[in-house]
Amino acid sequence: MNPSPPPATPLLCLGVESTAHTIGLAVASSTGDILLNINEAYAAPLGRGIHPREAAQHHSAVIPTLLRRVIASLDVDLAEVACIAFSAGPGLGPVLRTGATFARALALWLDKPLIPVHHAIGHIEIASLMTGAQDPLVLLVSGGHTSIVAFGDGLWRVYGETEDITLGNLLDVFAREAGLAFPGGAVIEALAKTGRTFVELPYVVKGNDVSYSGLLTAALKQLRGGTAIEDVCFSLQEVAFAMLAEATERALAHTERTEVLVTGGVAANERLQDMIRSIARDHGVHAYIVPKKYSGDSGAQIAWTGLLAFQSGVRVEVEKSFVKPKWRLDQVKIPWR
Ligand code: AMP
Ligand code: MG
Repeated sequence: MNPSPPPATPLLCLGVESTAHTIGLAVASSTGDILLNINEAYAAPLGRGIHPREAAQHHSAVIPTLLRRVIASLDVDLAEVACIAFSAGPGLGPVLRTGATFARALALWLDKPLIPVHHAIGHIEIASLMTGAQDPLVLLVSGGHTSIVAFGDGLWRVYGETEDITLGNLLDVFAREAGLAFPGGAVIEALAKTGRTFVELPYVVKGNDVSYSGLLTAALKQLRGGTAIEDVCFSLQEVAFAMLAEATERALAHTERTEVLVTGGVAANERLQDMIRSIARDHGVHAYIVPKKYSGDSGAQIAWTGLLAFQSGVRVEVEKSFVKPKWRLDQVKIPWR
């Protein structure tokens, strides 16, 4: 009997996430395991949005501590990692540059290849890894994205998106204006659970795109007009999510995908999950929801996607590793799918 070959040593990738509030370092293995996932979020003062320069200062201040934690927690020497991946975009310029500068320094110091990762592709790949979805229609809902996409001919194709602000932005700005804590999504979800009375709010779907800015203005008007905050939160969620569910349903029918995958920070919302599960049931398709632990921004999404890209030969020279604050998801070539 031939002895079985010794297992190949798994490849490891260290990923750096730095597009918005979160600075994260993580290590992913080619076995499909996330060995470490250490994230810290910058908290804007109550009533204020994210200030890019302050967030960048926060990130550069905490990076040394995060790196020390990685070195202390990792079972192998840092020099054993195969590559360094970083979120090259899209995101806030100063924040992207802080993460990229750190990743470049690490790649030079350890003499490892540098891998640029698109942050949204990271949300899709980590969700695919964690759920086992193979070829899904993806609903990506986060602070930076509101997109319905499916993969075809090397690119993620857009079947619907927001025409103005993202779903995460709608929730966060409403929360901020209402004096609620940031980020607003989870607080709004909790309040919405006790709301009972539905108030009319603008439902705007154009073609297969959604528009949220009128909804934001109208919800704030209701609040300032004296409608109970629980009822406004309830109605805001119902309208915002139903618009996306409608667009997702149409995209499902159009693409004939047999799986739908929800990912990004807003995927943690149970009401949104219920709506998507319900349309999936109606169409006889499987609904996958990213686990809450990996729904919001994290180093893990960059480390895992960086590893996939590295294994397909994606590299960038340090001299050419510019960040791309407006990098579109449908422009990223995906050689590994
Ligand atoms: P990301 O950009 O992927 O980190 O996602 C951040 C967004 O997710 C923010 O807009 C949050 O308000 C939102 N979010 C987090 N938890 C929830 C929740 N339970 N319901 C709705 N939105 C949420
Ligand atoms: Mg994100």
